[in-house]
Amino acid sequence: MNDEQDKKGDNGKTIENTCNGFLNEALDRGEVEEELRELLSTATRELSFKVPIRRQDGSLSVFQGYRVQHNASRGPFKGGLRFHPDVDLDHFRALARAMTLKCAVVDVPFGGAKGGIAVDPKSLTDHELEALTKGMVDRIDPVIGPDLDIPAPDMGTTPKLMAWIFDGYSKRHGYSPGVVTGKPQALGGIAGRVEATGYGAAHVAALAWCDGDRALDNARVAVQGFGNVGRHAALRLQEMGARVIAVSDERGGVFNDQGLDVAALVKRIDGGDDGELAELADSDAIDNAELLTADVDILMPAAIENVITSDNAGSVKAEMIVEAANLPVTCDADRILRDAGVIIVPDLLVNAGGVTVSYFEWAQNSARDNWTREKTFERLEGKLDDAWNSMLEKADGDQGRLREAAYDLAVERICEAIHLRGF
Ligand code: NAD
Repeated sequence: MNDEQDKKGDNGKTIENTCNGFLNEALDRGEVEEELRELLSTATRELSFKVPIRRQDGSLSVFQGYRVQHNASRGPFKGGLRFHPDVDLDHFRALARAMTLKCAVVDVPFGGAKGGIAVDPKSLTDHELEALTKGMVDRIDPVIGPDLDIPAPDMGTTPKLMAWIFDGYSKRHGYSPGVVTGKPQALGGIAGRVEATGYGAAHVAALAWCDGDRALDNARVAVQGFGNVGRHAALRLQEMGARVIAVSDERGGVFNDQGLDVAALVKRIDGGDDGELAELADSDAIDNAELLTADVDILMPAAIENVITSDNAGSVKAEMIVEAANLPVTCDADRILRDAGVIIVPDLLVNAGGVTVSYFEWAQNSARDNWTREKTFERLEGKLDDAWNSMLEKADGDQGRLREAAYDLAVERICEAIHLRGF
Protein backbone atom coordinates (compact mmCIF):
# COMPACT_ATOMS: atom_id res chain seq x y z
CA MET A 1 0.00 0.00 0.00
CA ASN A 2 1.45 3.42 -0.85
CA ASP A 3 1.13 6.64 1.14
CA GLU A 4 -1.54 8.10 -1.11
CA GLN A 5 -3.74 5.04 -0.66
CA ASP A 6 -3.26 5.26 3.08
CA LYS A 7 -4.66 8.79 3.18
CA LYS A 8 -7.24 8.55 0.41
CA GLY A 9 -9.71 5.72 0.61
CA ASP A 10 -12.40 6.03 -2.02
CA ASN A 11 -11.87 8.10 -5.15
CA GLY A 12 -9.53 10.53 -3.47
CA LYS A 13 -11.60 10.92 -0.30
CA THR A 14 -9.64 11.24 2.95
CA ILE A 15 -10.28 9.74 6.39
CA GLU A 16 -11.92 13.08 7.21
CA ASN A 17 -14.63 12.02 4.73
CA THR A 18 -14.94 8.60 6.34
CA CYS A 19 -15.45 9.87 9.88
CA ASN A 20 -17.66 12.78 8.73
CA GLY A 21 -19.75 10.43 6.61
CA PHE A 22 -20.58 8.12 9.53
CA LEU A 23 -21.14 11.07 11.88
CA ASN A 24 -23.41 12.96 9.47
CA GLU A 25 -25.60 9.89 9.07
CA ALA A 26 -25.93 9.65 12.86
CA LEU A 27 -26.73 13.38 13.15
CA ASP A 28 -29.45 12.90 10.52
CA ARG A 29 -30.89 9.84 12.28
CA GLY A 30 -30.91 11.71 15.61
CA GLU A 31 -32.41 14.85 13.99
CA VAL A 32 -29.74 16.88 15.79
CA GLU A 33 -30.19 20.69 15.69
CA GLU A 34 -28.09 22.67 13.23
CA GLU A 35 -25.97 24.46 15.87
CA LEU A 36 -25.01 21.18 17.59
CA ARG A 37 -24.20 19.66 14.21
CA GLU A 38 -21.78 22.51 13.59
CA LEU A 39 -20.17 22.07 17.02
CA LEU A 40 -19.65 18.35 16.48
CA SER A 41 -18.42 18.74 12.91
CA THR A 42 -15.64 21.18 13.80
CA ALA A 43 -12.82 21.22 16.35
CA THR A 44 -12.73 23.47 19.41
CA ARG A 45 -9.06 24.26 18.81
CA GLU A 46 -6.46 23.37 16.18
CA LEU A 47 -2.82 24.02 16.95
CA SER A 48 -0.16 23.91 14.24
CA PHE A 49 3.46 24.33 15.32
CA LYS A 50 7.09 23.83 14.32
CA VAL A 51 9.73 22.16 16.46
CA PRO A 52 13.40 22.82 15.66
CA ILE A 53 16.04 20.39 16.95
CA ARG A 54 19.82 20.35 16.71
CA ARG A 55 20.83 17.02 15.14
CA GLN A 56 23.75 15.04 16.44
CA ASP A 57 25.80 16.00 13.35
CA GLY A 58 25.32 19.70 14.25
CA SER A 59 22.68 20.47 11.60
CA LEU A 60 19.24 21.91 12.32
CA SER A 61 15.99 20.12 11.44
CA VAL A 62 12.52 21.63 11.79
CA PHE A 63 9.45 19.37 12.18
CA GLN A 64 5.78 20.14 11.69
CA GLY A 65 3.44 19.27 14.58
CA TYR A 66 -0.29 19.49 15.30
CA ARG A 67 -2.74 19.11 18.15
CA VAL A 68 -6.45 19.09 17.38
CA GLN A 69 -8.86 19.34 20.30
CA HIS A 70 -12.30 18.37 19.09
CA ASN A 71 -14.80 18.56 21.93
CA ALA A 72 -14.60 18.58 25.74
CA SER A 73 -18.27 18.54 26.73
CA ARG A 74 -17.95 15.23 28.62
CA GLY A 75 -14.49 15.86 30.15
CA PRO A 76 -10.94 16.97 29.33
CA PHE A 77 -9.64 16.41 25.80
CA LYS A 78 -7.99 13.01 25.45
CA GLY A 79 -6.16 11.42 22.56
CA GLY A 80 -2.98 9.94 21.22
CA LEU A 81 0.13 11.47 19.72
CA ARG A 82 1.25 9.98 16.42
CA PHE A 83 4.78 10.34 15.04
CA HIS A 84 4.58 9.38 11.37
CA PRO A 85 5.90 11.02 8.19
CA ASP A 86 2.48 11.19 6.48
CA VAL A 87 0.32 12.86 9.12
CA ASP A 88 -1.44 16.14 8.45
CA LEU A 89 -4.17 18.34 9.94
CA ASP A 90 -6.86 16.44 8.04
CA HIS A 91 -5.80 13.16 9.66
CA PHE A 92 -5.88 14.64 13.14
CA ARG A 93 -9.25 16.35 12.65
CA ALA A 94 -10.83 13.01 11.81
CA LEU A 95 -9.01 11.11 14.56
CA ALA A 96 -9.78 13.75 17.23
CA ARG A 97 -13.47 13.61 16.35
CA ALA A 98 -13.38 9.82 16.52
CA MET A 99 -11.87 10.09 20.02
CA THR A 100 -14.77 12.25 21.26
CA LEU A 101 -17.19 9.65 19.95
CA LYS A 102 -15.19 6.69 21.31
CA CYS A 103 -14.94 8.13 24.84
CA ALA A 104 -18.71 8.61 24.80
CA VAL A 105 -19.39 5.04 23.60
CA VAL A 106 -17.31 3.53 26.37
CA ASP A 107 -18.58 6.17 28.82
CA VAL A 108 -15.30 7.53 30.16
CA PRO A 109 -15.30 11.20 31.22
CA PHE A 110 -13.18 12.58 28.38
CA GLY A 111 -13.59 14.52 25.17
CA GLY A 112 -11.50 13.92 22.07
CA ALA A 113 -8.17 15.14 20.74
CA LYS A 114 -5.35 13.87 18.55
CA GLY A 115 -2.02 15.19 17.42
CA GLY A 116 1.54 14.44 16.61
CA ILE A 117 4.50 15.25 14.42
CA ALA A 118 5.28 14.54 10.79
CA VAL A 119 8.43 12.52 11.37
CA ASP A 120 9.72 8.99 11.04
CA PRO A 121 10.84 8.36 14.64
CA LYS A 122 13.17 5.58 13.46
CA SER A 123 15.19 8.21 11.57
CA LEU A 124 16.18 9.98 14.82
CA THR A 125 18.60 8.97 17.57
CA ASP A 126 17.21 8.62 21.08
CA HIS A 127 18.72 11.95 22.05
CA GLU A 128 17.14 13.68 19.03
CA LEU A 129 13.77 12.06 19.75
CA GLU A 130 13.88 13.34 23.33
CA ALA A 131 14.72 16.86 22.10
CA LEU A 132 11.86 16.71 19.59
CA THR A 133 9.38 15.44 22.21
CA LYS A 134 10.35 18.04 24.79
CA GLY A 135 10.32 20.75 22.09
CA MET A 136 6.76 19.66 21.28
CA VAL A 137 5.82 19.94 24.97
CA ASP A 138 7.11 23.57 24.91
CA ARG A 139 4.72 24.29 22.05
CA ILE A 140 1.61 22.55 23.41
CA ASP A 141 2.19 23.36 27.10
CA PRO A 142 -0.52 26.08 27.26
CA VAL A 143 -3.23 23.71 26.04
CA ILE A 144 -2.42 20.43 27.83
CA GLY A 145 -2.72 19.40 31.49
CA PRO A 146 -4.33 16.72 33.70
CA ASP A 147 -7.71 18.52 33.57
CA LEU A 148 -7.30 20.07 30.13
CA ASP A 149 -5.89 17.71 27.52
CA ILE A 150 -4.16 14.40 28.25
CA PRO A 151 -2.04 12.90 25.43
CA ALA A 152 -1.25 9.18 25.11
CA PRO A 153 0.74 6.90 22.78
CA ASP A 154 -0.38 6.12 19.22
CA MET A 155 1.49 4.97 16.12
CA GLY A 156 5.21 5.72 16.39
CA THR A 157 5.09 6.82 20.03
CA THR A 158 5.96 4.76 23.09
CA PRO A 159 5.87 4.78 26.92
CA LYS A 160 9.40 6.22 26.84
CA LEU A 161 8.11 9.22 24.88
CA MET A 162 5.28 9.65 27.39
CA ALA A 163 7.93 9.76 30.15
CA TRP A 164 9.63 12.68 28.36
CA ILE A 165 6.29 14.51 28.08
CA PHE A 166 5.62 13.92 31.78
CA ASP A 167 9.09 15.28 32.59
CA GLY A 168 8.82 18.33 30.28
CA TYR A 169 5.41 19.29 31.69
CA SER A 170 6.26 18.54 35.34
CA LYS A 171 9.36 20.77 35.19
CA ARG A 172 7.02 23.73 34.62
CA HIS A 173 3.98 22.75 36.64
CA GLY A 174 5.28 20.46 39.41
CA TYR A 175 4.75 16.68 39.67
CA SER A 176 1.94 15.98 37.17
CA PRO A 177 1.68 12.28 36.28
CA GLY A 178 -1.91 12.80 35.08
CA VAL A 179 -0.79 15.01 32.16
CA VAL A 180 -0.14 11.96 30.04
CA THR A 181 -1.16 8.29 30.02
CA GLY A 182 0.70 5.27 28.71
CA LYS A 183 3.70 6.14 30.92
CA PRO A 184 6.16 3.50 32.13
CA GLN A 185 4.94 1.92 35.37
CA ALA A 186 7.91 3.34 37.30
CA LEU A 187 6.50 6.84 36.64
CA GLY A 188 2.85 6.20 37.50
CA GLY A 189 1.87 4.16 34.45
CA ILE A 190 -0.70 1.44 34.93
CA ALA A 191 -0.05 -2.31 34.67
CA GLY A 192 -1.55 -3.58 31.42
CA ARG A 193 -1.76 -0.30 29.43
CA VAL A 194 0.63 -1.55 26.74
CA GLU A 195 -1.54 -4.54 25.84
CA ALA A 196 -4.90 -2.93 26.75
CA THR A 197 -6.03 -1.96 23.24
CA GLY A 198 -5.27 -5.37 21.73
CA TYR A 199 -6.70 -7.19 24.76
CA GLY A 200 -9.87 -5.09 24.51
CA ALA A 201 -10.14 -5.67 20.75
CA ALA A 202 -9.96 -9.44 21.32
CA HIS A 203 -12.55 -9.21 24.11
CA VAL A 204 -14.99 -7.30 21.88
CA ALA A 205 -14.33 -9.69 18.98
CA ALA A 206 -15.28 -12.59 21.26
CA LEU A 207 -18.42 -10.79 22.49
CA ALA A 208 -19.53 -10.16 18.91
CA TRP A 209 -18.63 -13.58 17.55
CA CYS A 210 -20.19 -15.53 20.43
CA ASP A 211 -23.34 -13.34 20.46
CA GLY A 212 -24.38 -15.10 17.27
CA ASP A 213 -24.28 -18.45 19.09
CA ARG A 214 -20.90 -19.20 17.57
CA ALA A 215 -17.96 -20.52 19.56
CA LEU A 216 -14.59 -18.81 19.34
CA ASP A 217 -12.82 -22.18 19.41
CA ASN A 218 -10.98 -22.61 16.13
CA ALA A 219 -12.57 -19.52 14.55
CA ARG A 220 -10.17 -18.54 11.75
CA VAL A 221 -8.73 -15.06 12.21
CA ALA A 222 -6.54 -12.76 10.06
CA VAL A 223 -4.96 -9.68 11.63
CA GLN A 224 -3.54 -6.83 9.55
CA GLY A 225 -0.85 -4.94 11.48
CA PHE A 226 1.46 -6.65 13.92
CA GLY A 227 2.35 -3.63 16.03
CA ASN A 228 1.13 -2.94 19.53
CA VAL A 229 -2.59 -3.47 18.88
CA GLY A 230 -2.40 -6.27 16.31
CA ARG A 231 0.03 -8.47 18.17
CA HIS A 232 -1.69 -8.23 21.55
CA ALA A 233 -5.08 -8.85 19.94
CA ALA A 234 -3.69 -11.88 18.09
CA LEU A 235 -2.07 -13.20 21.27
CA ARG A 236 -5.26 -12.83 23.29
CA LEU A 237 -7.50 -14.31 20.57
CA GLN A 238 -5.24 -17.33 20.40
CA GLU A 239 -5.31 -17.65 24.20
CA MET A 240 -9.12 -17.63 23.98
CA GLY A 241 -9.11 -20.52 21.49
CA ALA A 242 -9.28 -18.80 18.10
CA ARG A 243 -7.00 -19.96 15.25
CA VAL A 244 -4.93 -17.01 14.02
CA ILE A 245 -4.01 -18.04 10.49
CA ALA A 246 -2.59 -14.80 9.04
CA VAL A 247 -0.87 -11.67 10.32
CA SER A 248 0.96 -8.89 8.49
CA ASP A 249 2.93 -5.72 8.93
CA GLU A 250 3.81 -3.00 6.43
CA ARG A 251 6.40 -5.26 4.76
CA GLY A 252 3.99 -8.17 4.16
CA GLY A 253 2.46 -11.06 6.01
CA VAL A 254 2.48 -14.73 6.83
CA PHE A 255 -0.19 -17.39 6.43
CA ASN A 256 -0.62 -20.86 7.93
CA ASP A 257 -3.97 -22.59 7.63
CA GLN A 258 -3.24 -24.74 10.69
CA GLY A 259 -2.73 -21.63 12.83
CA LEU A 260 0.37 -19.56 13.56
CA ASP A 261 2.25 -19.73 16.82
CA VAL A 262 1.69 -16.06 17.64
CA ALA A 263 3.50 -16.18 20.99
CA ALA A 264 6.63 -17.64 19.36
CA LEU A 265 6.50 -14.98 16.63
CA VAL A 266 6.20 -12.18 19.18
CA LYS A 267 9.06 -13.67 21.19
CA ARG A 268 11.34 -13.62 18.15
CA ILE A 269 10.45 -10.01 17.34
CA ASP A 270 10.87 -8.94 20.98
CA GLY A 271 14.23 -10.73 20.95
CA GLY A 272 15.37 -8.37 18.19
CA ASP A 273 14.73 -10.48 15.07
CA ASP A 274 14.03 -8.04 12.27
CA GLY A 275 13.24 -10.50 9.48
CA GLU A 276 10.03 -10.51 7.49
CA LEU A 277 7.13 -12.22 9.26
CA ALA A 278 7.02 -15.17 6.81
CA GLU A 279 10.71 -15.93 7.55
CA LEU A 280 10.29 -15.56 11.30
CA ALA A 281 7.25 -17.87 11.39
CA ASP A 282 8.69 -20.24 8.80
CA SER A 283 5.37 -20.26 6.90
CA ASP A 284 3.94 -19.03 3.59
CA ALA A 285 4.22 -15.35 2.66
CA ILE A 286 1.03 -13.40 1.96
CA ASP A 287 0.75 -9.75 0.99
CA ASN A 288 -1.52 -7.21 2.66
CA ALA A 289 -4.05 -7.20 -0.19
CA GLU A 290 -4.35 -11.00 0.02
CA LEU A 291 -4.70 -10.93 3.80
CA LEU A 292 -7.65 -8.52 3.60
CA THR A 293 -9.52 -10.82 1.25
CA ALA A 294 -8.44 -14.13 2.83
CA ASP A 295 -10.99 -16.86 3.52
CA VAL A 296 -11.40 -16.35 7.29
CA ASP A 297 -14.19 -16.04 9.84
CA ILE A 298 -12.90 -12.85 11.47
CA LEU A 299 -10.83 -10.16 9.76
CA MET A 300 -9.19 -7.69 12.12
CA PRO A 301 -7.60 -4.63 10.48
CA ALA A 302 -5.21 -3.31 13.16
CA ALA A 303 -2.82 -1.11 11.17
CA ILE A 304 -3.95 2.10 9.50
CA GLU A 305 -7.00 3.92 8.14
CA ASN A 306 -8.92 3.33 4.89
CA VAL A 307 -7.58 -0.13 4.04
CA ILE A 308 -10.97 -1.53 3.01
CA THR A 309 -12.37 0.63 0.23
CA SER A 310 -14.88 0.23 -2.58
CA ASP A 311 -12.03 -1.36 -4.57
CA ASN A 312 -11.58 -4.42 -2.34
CA ALA A 313 -14.77 -4.56 -0.20
CA GLY A 314 -16.52 -6.83 -2.70
CA SER A 315 -13.70 -9.37 -2.37
CA VAL A 316 -13.77 -9.61 1.43
CA LYS A 317 -14.66 -13.19 2.43
CA ALA A 318 -14.69 -12.77 6.20
CA GLU A 319 -18.00 -13.18 7.99
CA MET A 320 -17.09 -10.47 10.50
CA ILE A 321 -14.75 -7.45 10.41
CA VAL A 322 -13.52 -6.30 13.80
CA GLU A 323 -12.07 -2.79 13.44
CA ALA A 324 -9.07 -2.60 15.76
CA ALA A 325 -7.49 0.25 13.75
CA ASN A 326 -9.22 3.63 13.59
CA LEU A 327 -11.42 4.12 10.52
CA PRO A 328 -10.12 1.14 8.49
CA VAL A 329 -13.33 0.86 6.41
CA THR A 330 -14.51 3.73 4.20
CA CYS A 331 -18.18 4.77 4.02
CA ASP A 332 -18.55 3.36 0.50
CA ALA A 333 -16.96 0.06 1.55
CA ASP A 334 -19.19 -0.06 4.63
CA ARG A 335 -22.29 0.00 2.42
CA ILE A 336 -20.93 -2.72 0.11
CA LEU A 337 -20.00 -4.97 3.03
CA ARG A 338 -23.30 -4.54 4.85
CA ASP A 339 -25.25 -5.27 1.67
CA ALA A 340 -23.20 -8.47 1.40
CA GLY A 341 -24.14 -9.39 4.99
CA VAL A 342 -20.67 -8.89 6.49
CA ILE A 343 -20.93 -7.90 10.16
CA ILE A 344 -18.79 -4.91 11.08
CA VAL A 345 -17.87 -4.39 14.72
CA PRO A 346 -16.94 -0.69 14.86
CA ASP A 347 -13.65 0.88 15.92
CA LEU A 348 -15.48 3.17 18.35
CA LEU A 349 -15.84 0.18 20.65
CA VAL A 350 -13.27 -2.33 19.40
CA ASN A 351 -10.19 -0.24 20.13
CA ALA A 352 -11.63 1.66 23.10
CA GLY A 353 -9.74 -0.61 25.52
CA GLY A 354 -6.75 1.73 25.18
CA VAL A 355 -8.54 4.90 26.25
CA THR A 356 -10.45 3.00 28.93
CA VAL A 357 -7.24 1.83 30.60
CA SER A 358 -5.81 5.32 30.05
CA TYR A 359 -8.78 6.57 32.06
CA PHE A 360 -7.93 4.07 34.81
CA GLU A 361 -4.31 5.32 34.75
CA TRP A 362 -5.47 8.94 35.01
CA ALA A 363 -7.83 8.06 37.89
CA GLN A 364 -5.03 6.05 39.57
CA ASN A 365 -2.72 9.07 39.25
CA SER A 366 -5.32 11.46 40.72
CA ALA A 367 -5.78 9.13 43.71
CA ARG A 368 -1.98 8.49 43.95
CA ASP A 369 -3.01 4.82 43.82
CA ASN A 370 -1.43 1.74 42.20
CA TRP A 371 -3.74 -0.81 40.56
CA THR A 372 -2.87 -4.45 39.92
CA ARG A 373 -3.00 -5.89 36.40
CA GLU A 374 -5.88 -8.16 37.49
CA LYS A 375 -7.94 -5.21 38.70
CA THR A 376 -7.21 -3.29 35.49
CA PHE A 377 -8.38 -6.10 33.19
CA GLU A 378 -11.38 -6.99 35.33
CA ARG A 379 -12.54 -3.36 35.22
CA LEU A 380 -11.72 -3.15 31.49
CA GLU A 381 -13.84 -6.19 30.68
CA GLY A 382 -16.69 -4.72 32.75
CA LYS A 383 -16.54 -1.38 30.88
CA LEU A 384 -16.42 -3.09 27.47
CA ASP A 385 -19.29 -5.44 28.40
CA ASP A 386 -21.44 -2.46 29.45
CA ALA A 387 -20.65 -0.57 26.24
CA TRP A 388 -21.29 -3.69 24.12
CA ASN A 389 -24.69 -4.22 25.79
CA SER A 390 -25.67 -0.54 25.31
CA MET A 391 -24.60 -0.70 21.66
CA LEU A 392 -26.47 -3.93 21.00
CA GLU A 393 -29.58 -2.55 22.68
CA LYS A 394 -29.37 0.57 20.48
CA ALA A 395 -29.12 -1.74 17.46
CA ASP A 396 -32.22 -3.66 18.65
CA GLY A 397 -30.02 -6.75 18.72
CA ASP A 398 -29.30 -6.46 14.98
CA GLN A 399 -25.57 -7.07 14.40
CA GLY A 400 -25.89 -5.49 10.97
CA ARG A 401 -26.41 -2.10 12.66
CA LEU A 402 -23.56 -2.04 15.17
CA ARG A 403 -21.76 0.96 13.65
CA GLU A 404 -24.96 2.98 13.43
CA ALA A 405 -25.71 2.07 17.04
CA ALA A 406 -22.23 3.11 18.25
CA TYR A 407 -22.46 6.49 16.50
CA ASP A 408 -26.06 7.04 17.71
CA LEU A 409 -25.09 6.21 21.29
CA ALA A 410 -22.10 8.57 21.16
CA VAL A 411 -24.05 11.45 19.59
CA GLU A 412 -26.86 11.06 22.15
CA ARG A 413 -24.44 11.14 25.11
CA ILE A 414 -22.40 14.08 23.78
CA CYS A 415 -25.48 16.13 22.89
CA GLU A 416 -26.93 15.48 26.35
CA ALA A 417 -23.75 16.90 27.94
CA ILE A 418 -23.78 19.94 25.64
CA HIS A 419 -27.45 20.58 26.41
CA LEU A 420 -26.83 20.36 30.16
CA ARG A 421 -23.68 22.55 30.17
CA GLY A 422 -24.43 24.99 27.39
CA PHE A 423 -21.53 26.31 25.32
P1 NAD B 1 2.01 0.41 15.77
O1 NAD B 1 2.83 1.49 15.15
O2 NAD B 1 2.48 -0.24 17.01
O3 NAD B 1 1.74 -0.76 14.71
C1 NAD B 1 1.22 -0.50 13.45
C2 NAD B 1 1.36 -1.78 12.62
O4 NAD B 1 0.77 -1.55 11.35
C3 NAD B 1 2.81 -2.20 12.37
O5 NAD B 1 2.89 -3.62 12.36
C4 NAD B 1 3.07 -1.67 10.96
O6 NAD B 1 4.08 -2.39 10.28
C5 NAD B 1 1.71 -1.91 10.34
N1 NAD B 1 1.46 -1.08 9.17
C6 NAD B 1 1.77 0.22 8.97
N2 NAD B 1 1.42 0.61 7.73
C7 NAD B 1 0.87 -0.49 7.14
C8 NAD B 1 0.34 -0.73 5.87
N3 NAD B 1 0.32 0.23 4.95
N4 NAD B 1 -0.16 -1.98 5.60
C9 NAD B 1 -0.12 -2.95 6.54
N5 NAD B 1 0.39 -2.78 7.77
C10 NAD B 1 0.89 -1.56 8.06
O7 NAD B 1 0.54 1.08 15.98
P2 NAD B 1 -0.60 0.58 16.96
O8 NAD B 1 -0.46 1.35 18.24
O9 NAD B 1 -0.63 -0.88 16.96
O10 NAD B 1 -1.90 1.19 16.23
C11 NAD B 1 -2.55 0.49 15.19
C12 NAD B 1 -3.91 1.12 14.95
O11 NAD B 1 -4.68 1.07 16.14
C13 NAD B 1 -3.91 2.58 14.51
O12 NAD B 1 -5.00 2.81 13.66
C14 NAD B 1 -4.14 3.32 15.83
O13 NAD B 1 -4.69 4.61 15.64
C15 NAD B 1 -5.13 2.38 16.48
N6 NAD B 1 -5.21 2.51 17.93
C16 NAD B 1 -4.12 2.30 18.70
C17 NAD B 1 -4.25 2.40 20.10
C18 NAD B 1 -3.10 2.09 21.02
O14 NAD B 1 -3.33 2.07 22.24
N7 NAD B 1 -1.91 1.84 20.54
C19 NAD B 1 -5.48 2.75 20.67
C20 NAD B 1 -6.58 2.96 19.83
C21 NAD B 1 -6.42 2.83 18.46
